[in-house]
Amino acid sequence: MALVVQKYGGSSVSDARSIKRVAKRIAEAKRAGNDVVVVVSAMGDTTDELLDLAADISPRPPQREMDILLTAGERISMSLLAMAIDKLGVKAKSFTGQQAGLLTDAVHGKARIVDVVPHRIRQTLEKGQVAIVAGFQGVSSGNDVTTLGRGGSDTTAVALAAGLDADVCEIYTDVDGIFTADPRIAPGARKIDKVTYEEMLELAASGAKVLALRAVEYARRYQVPVHVRSSFSGKNGTLVKGTHGDLIDPNASSEEQEEAAMEDPIISGVAHDRSEAKITIVGVPDTLGQAARIFEVVAAAGTNIDMIVQNVSAADTGLTDISFTLPHADIRSTTAALNAVKSELKFDDLQVDDEIGKVSLVGAGMKSHPGISARLFGALRDAGINIEMISTSEIRISVVTRADNLDDAVRAIHTAFELDSAEGEAVVYAGTGR
Ligand code: ADP
Ligand code: ASP
Ligand code: MG
Repeated sequence: MALVVQKYGGSSVSDARSIKRVAKRIAEAKRAGNDVVVVVSAMGDTTDELLDLAADISPRPPQREMDILLTAGERISMSLLAMAIDKLGVKAKSFTGQQAGLLTDAVHGKARIVDVVPHRIRQTLEKGQVAIVAGFQGVSSGNDVTTLGRGGSDTTAVALAAGLDADVCEIYTDVDGIFTADPRIAPGARKIDKVTYEEMLELAASGAKVLALRAVEYARRYQVPVHVRSSFSGKNGTLVKGTHGDLIDPNASSEEQEEAAMEDPIISGVAHDRSEAKITIVGVPDTLGQAARIFEVVAAAGTNIDMIVQNVSAADTGLTDISFTLPHADIRSTTAALNAVKSELKFDDLQVDDEIGKVSLVGAGMKSHPGISARLFGALRDAGINIEMISTSEIRISVVTRADNLDDAVRAIHTAFELDSAEGEAVVYAGTGR
């Protein structure tokens, strides 16, 4: 008998019919003899609708109230799902994040899980019942309801799987697994059978929202095997586990080692991100300590910056421009913080550009293969796409383009690295990709 944590995303429970369909799957897993814990997201685009509603009430709603509002979405789906399972003759009980023992810090909107104390979930399993847990939420030590950031139900599922020492954490979504690119943009994307935590971390950090970044971080830390698959098909999906090169048996013959190394792909995939904007600080005096001061101010505003570019300063004026990318959501607070110190920093102007996109190529094999950047830049040149910023890590190359070139950039790079599938188009079963 196995202990399975299953997570169903919003597009898998978008209406009553889907909830009944998912309930059947859960009942089958239970009847097959497993202990089953289910984490569920809000129905369809409920979270976005609640965000829009709040924006109609206030441009800057109190964070605490936002969290209470948003967690309502998951309370609706968890109770309906429990009812649907009960109707199939299997006992099920639903729990909020707080009831399930998901303890977090007090950072509303992006709280971190500090501990998981799933007593009530264990009791429910001991009684032979299915436990349904509302994803994306927890409770702070001050007893306030918190949310874990967008896509946070994935994190709830992995954290519960770790806390309960589950055999596997299954993430059910609207595509058949993790692909070499978002199948909504690159229909030729190929399903990946296995990806390491490290590569999935880079993919998620680069915008592949099929798994939330924090969920992958958590899975890596606690070595939770994650199986990403579709709730609309019976196909095996993608396993996230292990490290690069773990297919290679150190005791095997050199030929066998070489063969295993061949199975580890050089490139895992192409990710894209539309959630960032670019701020350019124009006419900054190029003097010692300026960058440090600028980014102290940005950090104090709570902004997580991504890429930074500083231009060569003009010889006649000694002025330079510094550009950096940041989440759209942080534009207002960051520009306010910088403008507040404009006279101290002595810059001329701040320019905000929210029409950028970022495309990233990820693969652990990049470390040992030269020429990857040249090929990527060549693919963009051939597609007529201009590169505005570049950043790299050991296993990733990212470039910023115009937002309306982004889809073409993804496809061009995907094709240039011969990632296109020989098996026809990838299936997208539901959802809006929002
Ligand atoms: P859920 O509602 O199940 O949480 P999400 O919308 O959060 O689903 O994530 C699934 C979506 O992630 C897919 O429909 C797809 O458009 C998108 N996606 C982005 N990159 C990838 C990728 N590399 N592989 C698969 N899906 C991806
Ligand atoms: N409902 C939340 C969101 O839309 C959490 C999740 O779906 O994972 O971000
Ligand atoms: Mg998701």
